[in-house]
Amino acid sequence: MTIWMLDETHDPQTESWVSSANRVSCDFALQNLPYGVAAAGDAAKPVIVVAIGDQALNLSACAQEGLLDRLFGADARSILCRDDLNALMARSPAEWRALRLWLHRALRAGSEMQSSIEGFLLPIESLEMRIPARIGDYTDFYCSVEHATNVGRLFRPDNPLLPNFKSLPVGYHGRASSIVVSNSPVRRPNGQIRVDGDIVFAPSRMLDYELELGAFIGGGKNDTGVHPLPEARERLFGVCLVNDWSARDIQAWEYQPLGPFLSKSFATTISPWVVTMDALAPFRVAARERLADDPALLDYLADKDEAGGGALNVDLTVHLQSAAMRKKGEAPLTVTRANAAGLYWTFAQMITHHMSNGCPVLPGDLIASGTISGETPGSQGCLLELTRRGAEPLDLGNGESRSFLQDGDEIVLEGRCEREGFRAIGFGECRGAVLPASDWS
Ligand code: CA
Repeated sequence: MTIWMLDETHDPQTESWVSSANRVSCDFALQNLPYGVAAAGDAAKPVIVVAIGDQALNLSACAQEGLLDRLFGADARSILCRDDLNALMARSPAEWRALRLWLHRALRAGSEMQSSIEGFLLPIESLEMRIPARIGDYTDFYCSVEHATNVGRLFRPDNPLLPNFKSLPVGYHGRASSIVVSNSPVRRPNGQIRVDGDIVFAPSRMLDYELELGAFIGGGKNDTGVHPLPEARERLFGVCLVNDWSARDIQAWEYQPLGPFLSKSFATTISPWVVTMDALAPFRVAARERLADDPALLDYLADKDEAGGGALNVDLTVHLQSAAMRKKGEAPLTVTRANAAGLYWTFAQMITHHMSNGCPVLPGDLIASGTISGETPGSQGCLLELTRRGAEPLDLGNGESRSFLQDGDEIVLEGRCEREGFRAIGFGECRGAVLPASDWS
């Protein structure tokens, strides 16, 4: 049985009694139901919430009231009355699907449950969103062949793509401690950089964003070291947007021979809503086709289901608003439009490869895709590519230009899934603005 099945929760005709969810442009339609963690008001303890239109259902309160006992028995409160999604992530795909069905039936128009849960709705705009899970480990991959080629070409014009790229999903171990949620300011890092041949310690002059998707791991603990793709697929809980802020000048000096380090670990911003794999089921598409002269996939990274539906058709955009634009009330400029379906590796392949040496991955771990770039102009997922390492600055259309980010610049990532015959769903926002570097002098 494929775990990407469609059921009544994907029916595009069904509407919600929360009327804002029924607007065509709404990210959080009844067919989405993403999870988050939020505090309502200063003193409130954070709770688990589910987005529906411009409202959020307090799922912790529903569980406290005993409404989820039928699904989870005595465990309902320990899973849902808490300030992270880890315990829910640790359950099985069958239980995730049962909870989604319960939410769908509770929130759809005409539900007999409306009167018992409408008191648990909170306006999203009144919420302070938090990191949705306690992220034990964060691994960032490098799965876009366009990104890898574009970046490689800047440094190795004759040989842009390294020989391992098409044999395995290349990744590195990121820092979970510096992951922040959307709307958190990001301070420009200080670091060791090369300026005119001298090595100095100074604020980064080449601060960049990276457009990525992140997948939260679910399920139990792997302890056998043998996890074929079907198990990896079942351990995918849901997806969020990721901005992997990068200081290119720090990176250029430090990255050899062990890869990026302080150029990445100062901040990574994630969107607060976790869009579940069940919500994404209609938007699964065939994994990117491998070319005739690509190396053959090793068996542990290949099966029919992954080839047929391992990729996610998510339209992604990056918007930039400078401090001057904000001051004048000018709208942000869209600087990147890309789609996640073109990634060379799928999330299940990344997880399979990650676990293939016996490395435990745990509920709440975050796996990011790497910068998502396409082939066409304007589809590059970071400024390093868009401006060819600053050589071709980006015209912001208001007299300003950017080689890299300046203080006060705000970056907003958005993601949306659309398919004929289905309700569109979205990811909300992943937003962060750049603060000046700390003064070390
Ligand atoms: Ca990255």
